[in-house]
Amino acid sequence: MKTAANAAGRMLSKRLQAIADLVPPGARVADIGSDHALLPAWLVSAGKSPCAVAGEVRDGPLKASAARIKEDGLADLVAVRKGDGLAVVAPGEVDCVVIAGMGGALIASILEAGAAAGKLEGVRTLVLQPNVGEDLVRRWILDKGWYLAAERIVEEDGRWYEILAAQRVPDADGLNSALYNASFLKLDLPAERKKELLLRMGPWLLRQPDERLAGKWRSELEKLAFISRQIERSDSPDAARRRQEVLEEIKLIGEVMACLQADNSSSS
Ligand code: SAM
Repeated sequence: MKTAANAAGRMLSKRLQAIADLVPPGARVADIGSDHALLPAWLVSAGKSPCAVAGEVRDGPLKASAARIKEDGLADLVAVRKGDGLAVVAPGEVDCVVIAGMGGALIASILEAGAAAGKLEGVRTLVLQPNVGEDLVRRWILDKGWYLAAERIVEEDGRWYEILAAQRVPDADGLNSALYNASFLKLDLPAERKKELLLRMGPWLLRQPDERLAGKWRSELEKLAFISRQIERSDSPDAARRRQEVLEEIKLIGEVMACLQADNSSSS
């Protein structure tokens, strides 16, 4: 992963750098929910993007980042705009949209509203980093005819983040059916159930299992085990059913990880 200081001498965090790495060189970028505007500032000052829009819905971060962009001498290159989601860009204004650091449901709803308003016209690449609900973002990408071209996992300050890059390509349907063909998962499950696992855990990430994938799912399994212990203490009528669901999820994720590990050791 490349890292470099920007014109103002700032380095990006590991997570933001991984996002920046998936932005195509030369792309005009809109960073929606930009908050501190560190990403668009880095992209233009590193010369990766000719110009960028930093969109933000809250006044506080908007004012702070506008002041910093001005101080850094980047005001001609980064437009800081207030607005909800993709309302801050005109159709055809950008080539790449980044939405990072929000829940997957919010990211999908911003994309949906933006698409309906024509704001994704001309956009070739989406770089999306949901904090939770990654499956909702993958589902949106798939259902709307985009192609999930790359996935990354990074750990920062003890948290795992998935970053998804989607592209608008002519044969998205064909590429998507190959990508979501889960026959490589040697599990005794119906095809539809395996596809759900790919949506949940990432079709690229599962095809290229590494220590980061294992680390992320170890951490998720610990969270699920904690939830199961909490539910065990509850005497609500729903508790037994809910606990059973969590235990089944733990078992399934464990089986996926074991099957990938077995594949890895037999191929090495
Ligand atoms: N994108 C930055 C990052 O990844 O470091 C900041 C993430 S911050 C946790 C999420 C930001 O999204 C907040 O500043 C919030 O105000 C903004 N936000 C939430 N909903 C939004 C929306 N519908 N439109 C624009 N910005 C939004």
